[in-house]
Amino acid sequence: STQEKTPQICVVGSGPAGFYTAQHLLKRVEALCSQPRVLNSPALSGEGEDLGASQPLSLGPTSCHPVPQQHPQAHVDIYEKQPVPFGLVRFGVAPDHPEVKNVINTFTQTAHSGRCAFWGNVEVGRDVTVPELQEAYHAVVLSYGAEDHRALEIPGEELPGVCSARAFVGWYNGLPENQELEPDLSCDTAVILGQGNVALDVARILLTPPEHLEALLLCQRTDITKAALGVLRQSRVKTVWLVGRRGPLQVAFTIKELREMIQLPGARPILDPVDFLGLQDKIKEVPRPRKRLTELLLRTATEKPGPAEAARQASASRAWGLRFFRSPQQVLPSPDGRRAAGVRLAVTRLEGVDEATRAVPTGDMEDLPCGLVLSSIGYKSRPVDPSVPFDSKLGVIPNVEGRVMDVPGLYCSGWVKRGPTGVIATTMTDSFLTGQMLLQDLKAGLLPSGPRPGYAAIQALLSSRGVRPVSFSDWEKLDAEEVARGQGTGKPREKLVDPQEMLRLLGH
Ligand code: FAD
Repeated sequence: STQEKTPQICVVGSGPAGFYTAQHLLKRVEALCSQPRVLNSPALSGEGEDLGASQPLSLGPTSCHPVPQQHPQAHVDIYEKQPVPFGLVRFGVAPDHPEVKNVINTFTQTAHSGRCAFWGNVEVGRDVTVPELQEAYHAVVLSYGAEDHRALEIPGEELPGVCSARAFVGWYNGLPENQELEPDLSCDTAVILGQGNVALDVARILLTPPEHLEALLLCQRTDITKAALGVLRQSRVKTVWLVGRRGPLQVAFTIKELREMIQLPGARPILDPVDFLGLQDKIKEVPRPRKRLTELLLRTATEKPGPAEAARQASASRAWGLRFFRSPQQVLPSPDGRRAAGVRLAVTRLEGVDEATRAVPTGDMEDLPCGLVLSSIGYKSRPVDPSVPFDSKLGVIPNVEGRVMDVPGLYCSGWVKRGPTGVIATTMTDSFLTGQMLLQDLKAGLLPSGPRPGYAAIQALLSSRGVRPVSFSDWEKLDAEEVARGQGTGKPREKLVDPQEMLRLLGH
């Protein structure tokens, strides 16, 4: 039957990588279905016929898979450990950037395709193993992101008052595991170690004045959690330093985020013109996006602001600054040893050129007092299952263009494939490529032959283990509940943050 010949594919993780991979797999096959006359016409399917992007999947003679013109019904199941979908689009992207979250509409369309299913509340590696998925599906795509943060590995890191930017972001975005974080914002100064977009997001959220947060609420532009909003309203943090080992030419944030920071209401930038000496000449040689970014930094650091901006800065009660050429050595304890009171920084200078530029210590040290330390030096993936190869040094699954090395039928996409860098658009391109490789292998007959049970087999396993998956229509009930709870507070939604409550609401 058609059912028996359906290529069954599963994707692990429902962030951008998972959804874009699924979208590509389904769209490619759909594109084929949408041309039945071409695909079924012997006259047009002869040798040399160039069907371009809609070239049919012709499966090799060794494969028992359907040739798509007859059975264009690939089915994709997406497994997700959270009861809710969308990964970092929901739990990472800043709550005051609602437009970035519009990709959710595309993901929802994919989930509504009759050939795609979402199964939340299923943790692969715990509730079901990768070999079990491989047994049930023709192909498995691992798209489970990079959930760990890189540790600082310096003394004092464990002190209260130190946390990862990742956990802080998870806290204000309603990630269940970070709801107990209770960041203490009673201090005057916070230090963020790192100079990327996540560091800027965190600095912006910390410094946004309460009245501006209220204004965002009024125009439905933030879905920050109620609890986080309450704590931020009481925040006493007035100054945020973002510390980087290297210089202005090496910052990892992008111009849009920097501009937003420079224009942040009630806050002024602190940049030391000395850090920018000699930069004017160097920026002539750098690629255009980096050039524009550095010019903006340079202008902000060295040019006298116009009267309106000068007045704005003079009345600002909060400030943020970039500390360049500083490498963290130790989190300094308070006199009673109970919490963080500062960071000891080694002063550095640059050696090498271009990509090879390294920060080396000059021997000088500097102490930067603060009550909150947030480390934002990157993420890394975890191994999901002992059967899956994992490069623990790079924190990725070793792969060639998304094909997991030495494991036919196993693929990866997104941050777990190429490391935790890049925006949603980068993740999209990369996931489409993985989808492409999978389709090529399907076409070449390289995937296991014979029918596979897909979700039916996994459902039985999960049920025997007492796991109740959350379907996409279940998620839509939770979504409606969140939207309803947001009404009246002016928010697009009030996120549910307790998985037990979510499951209760669904009657699980
Ligand atoms: P994720 O989005 O992390 O998705 C992985 C999914 O897998 C998650 O849902 C996770 O719960 C699930 N999972 C993990 N382990 C398992 C398991 N064992 N079993 C089942 N499921 C599992 N990009 C932009 O373009 N604009 C922005 O404004 C922006 N802001 C960002 C802010 C932050 C704080 C961060 C960290 C990133 C931001 N990015 C932004 C980058 C963007 O989020 C990433 O490019 C993208 O999310 C990576 O997609 P992914 O699917 O690989 O990983």
